This record gives sequence, C-alpha cells and structure tokens, in this order.
Amino acid sequence: MNIKEALQKTIQQLKQANIATYHIDALLILKDTIKKDDVYVLTNPQKELNDRQIEEIERLTNKRKLRYPMAYITHSKEFYGLEFYVDDRVLIPRPETELIVDVTLKIASDIKNPKIVDIGTGSGCIAITLSKLLDTHITASDISKEALNVAKLNAKRLDADISLINANGLDFLKNGIDIITTNPPYVLENEYELLSEDVKFEPKIALIPPSGNGFIEDLIEKAKQLTKWLIMEIGPSQLKIIKNSRYIYKIIRDFSNKERVAVFKF
Ligand code: GLN
Repeated sequence: MNIKEALQKTIQQLKQANIATYHIDALLILKDTIKKDDVYVLTNPQKELNDRQIEEIERLTNKRKLRYPMAYITHSKEFYGLEFYVDDRVLIPRPETELIVDVTLKIASDIKNPKIVDIGTGSGCIAITLSKLLDTHITASDISKEALNVAKLNAKRLDADISLINANGLDFLKNGIDIITTNPPYVLENEYELLSEDVKFEPKIALIPPSGNGFIEDLIEKAKQLTKWLIMEIGPSQLKIIKNSRYIYKIIRDFSNKERVAVFKF
C-alpha cells in the first residue's frame, strides 16, 4: 500500500465512523506514523509503506473510530503558540483556557515580581505559558501524580521555570500570593453524560469536582485568605455562585460567547 492509498483508506474508514474531522485526522494519522510533514505526505503519493507502518495506521485509525481524541493519538496539542505533549493522564488544553493566560498577563503587568500559583495544572499549559511569557518562576500543583509527570516533561521540553507540587486544592499554600490561576474540574456528575464522546477519554478527575459545586465554593473561600487575585475557568453551572460572590471583578466570555473565566479580586 502506498501513501495515497493509505490516506484514502483512512479517510474512508473515519468518514464511515462519522468522525466529522475525518480528512484532517487521516492526514495527521499518516504524518504521525511516517514521521513526515504535510508537504511530504501530499507530494509523495506513490511512496510505498512498510508493514509496520500499515499496521500502525490501522491501529490509530481504529482508536480514532472510537472517538479517542486526536491530541492523544499525536501526543501533541498547541496552546498559546506552544506545543505541549499530552496523553490520557491529562486534560487536553482547550483554546478557551488561553483566556486565563490573557487576563493573567494583563493583571500581572501591573505587579512587580508577581507571585503566581497555578492549581490543578494538568499538562502544565497555563503555568508553563505564563512562566515563559512573564519570564518568571511559577509554582504549579496537581492532585494527580500522573499529571505532574506530564507537566514535568512539558516544563523540560519547553525550558520553563516552574516547580511542581503534588497537592489537593489550596491547602499547601501560605498567603502572600498575587495571582492564583486554575482550570479546576467543574463538570457536574449529571452533566458528564452529555459531554461529547471524545471528552470521555479524558481523566474524570480533571473534569468532575469531588463534591460538585461545593468544591468550587471552597476554592474561592480558601483563595480569599491567600491571594489578591483568583482567575478561574468555569462552566454554566458555576455562574450562580460566581455572580453571587461579592469579590467577582469580571467574567470573560469565550468564542462561543459563554461566560468562561471568572476573575476575583479580594
Ligand atoms: N471545558 C471542559 C470540557 O469541555 C471542562 C474542563 C474542566 O472541567 N475544567 O468539558
């Protein structure tokens, strides 16, 4: 089988499995397997693939047919212009989470040597991006040791100055922090089933808060003692809590016009 045939076969299989992004996904699977770029794949249609490559394409295509996320297949996701390694130990960075970075950069620009902590760092995308762009040290934590291993790998690859701590919530912190950033789990149990099939392959611990909205309320309450600013990603189910807080400074909407990032000033 040559490149063109393998590409056509993969496209066909993904299309039949109702994968909406079948074309680009097929191209990514091919590129990832033969370790070449788009140009090579598209300009070398007659190049023969070996058995190992054909098997690998088949294996990845079968995974994708079950809606296993592309980012886990290619082990890569772009976030704020940086490329992060990802696998199913961490949540895949979302474009809307870049809004946390945007607003933190703005707020930090008015603070001399800002002390920033990122809670529930996952892949490390927020902490690493901020540390690179602000050229400063950042502390990042996660309850999942497995996630911290991914963050560590990303910090090393991207040469970022962050320290990683295995901790649950904010309990490990002392006061005197300027900004706490967090993309906490905020999907409620009853909303989980409604998520797309791709999301179900992501760690539940990164999506569902252990005690529902109580977890989010607790986070805000504790942050009040520790930091001047709390910048937190939210979903529609947190809006009521957020809007009732006397500390809410602003709420930022995402590209689909949903209220997505809450900024608290204490
Ligand atoms: N935005 C995520 C989703 O699409 C949820 C992320 C989170 O819980 N922090 O499901």
